[in-house]
Amino acid sequence: MTEELRTVPFECRRCWHVWEEQYLVRRIDDRHGNETEVWLRDGLPALPPGPGVICPSCGCQQSTRFPDGYLSRHPELVPPAEPAGPDATPLLSPVQPPVHRHLT
Ligand SMILES: [Zn+2]
Repeated sequence: MTEELRTVPFECRRCWHVWEEQYLVRRIDDRHGNETEVWLRDGLPALPPGPGVICPSCGCQQSTRFPDGYLSRHPELVPPAEPAGPDATPLLSPVQPPVHRHLT
């Protein structure tokens, strides 16, 4: 049995969203010379990638599959990674808190 990690690029024909899905392709030899391919996604059996994969952006099924590795040759198609999250720096008021002095 062999396992191969495949990153399959897709494009939505409705909203033109481009994304990739990671699959694990498990090839099982049945000892009679026949090889069965099992596609797993997130560790669960999945259909081999093809038309009809649901677009994560708009939820339609009008997606199309790019050939493997297509996006690495067309990096301009890949949307910028996640939008920058909120700044982790806590908001500090520029006003200094009053200093409590102990009167001596
Ligand atoms: Zn879409």
